[in-house]
Amino acid sequence: MSSPPSAPSLAKSPLIEVSEVSHEYHNGAGAIPVLKGVSLTVGYNEMAAVMGPSGCGKSTLLSILGLLLVPSRGSYRALGRDLLTLNRSQQAEFRRKCIGFVFQSCNLIENTTVYENLEFPLIYAGVRRSERAPRIRETLSRVNLLHRLHHPSNLLSGGEQQRVAVARALVNRPQIILADEPTGQLDREHSQLVMDHFQQLVEEENIAVVLVTHDPQVAARCHRVYFLEDGLLTSERTLNPLPPHSSLRCNP
Ligand code: ADP
Repeated sequence: MSSPPSAPSLAKSPLIEVSEVSHEYHNGAGAIPVLKGVSLTVGYNEMAAVMGPSGCGKSTLLSILGLLLVPSRGSYRALGRDLLTLNRSQQAEFRRKCIGFVFQSCNLIENTTVYENLEFPLIYAGVRRSERAPRIRETLSRVNLLHRLHHPSNLLSGGEQQRVAVARALVNRPQIILADEPTGQLDREHSQLVMDHFQQLVEEENIAVVLVTHDPQVAARCHRVYFLEDGLLTSERTLNPLPPHSSLRCNP
């Protein structure tokens, strides 16, 4: 892959910039339009919420942001790269280095411990064995789960599994975190804990978080709140906009 653009050009652009993206699915009856020209920006050190009724296309949008789905039309830039012009292997490399996912269903690996669940993405990213254990411990302690380090993941409660899923998305230190209802299965206390952790990360680490949520209290902690309805995305408010930052950490 070519080297990342220089800091001065990044300083002017948001971390994530989606422009006029449309997507339609196809079934036997024809095309089903889901996204009809949506645009969103998320800056460095920002957290954005996407809200909207069930079936409006939130997961579709998140899949596009995660390079898991190619939209029918539009452009998507992040960390200074024009991501839809990359080939599949370049996109996979970008995803591996720069994007962390927290899915609605936790998708923990069966018959493994918490440690192994967090180690897997580190092995995949080529992190040396000696670095893995301290990183896993540090990430687990941030979500209050260090005491479960060697616990079988299938014996955890639903809320604990959700926090392992959050930790697993963070352990690679991605600059883009995409979360589909990351607090959906958590009680208020652990929901606050996960949001505290996201907030601390966005403040300290020059990352962007995009999360889908139905919870107004979660959305209230985000800098931007977008509403998706009838294929269109509207921004309700922008809170405390932070100055753009030029730091590249994951070096896409
Ligand atoms: P949300 O996350 O807001 O609930 P989704 O993005 O999952 O919405 O889905 C948006 C619409 O697209 C829904 O009507 C859903 O049935 C449809 N849809 C999602 N994935 C597919 C697919 N792979 N093929 C066809 N239709 C799909």
